Amino acid sequence: MKKSQMPRRQFLKIGGAVLATIPITIVSGRTDAATNAALRTALKYQGKPEGDKNCANCMQFVPGASATAMGGCKVIPGDTEISPQGYCSVWAKKV
Ligand code: SF4
Repeated sequence: MKKSQMPRRQFLKIGGAVLATIPITIVSGRTDAATNAALRTALKYQGKPEGDKNCANCMQFVPGASATAMGGCKVIPGDTEISPQGYCSVWAKKV
């Protein structure tokens, strides 16, 4: 490999990482949006309620700026895109 190829390869690598984050930002309209895909999958998170069970009435939910805004979850760290109308397998009734 020539020395002159390294900067271009690094540029492409970094560019690919930046491009991979753009869809999340565009969809949510927020620059600080983040999801924890591994835990979402492990806990079978879904963006819709399961009967009358939803994130808004779960004790683990961390509400967003309004009742309908995306929030967080105490058992899914680093995820700022938990829907109040979502649900997962460890739902626990808020008391
Ligand atoms: S534990 Fe599950 S149901 Fe409860 S807030 Fe978190 S993602 Fe929603």
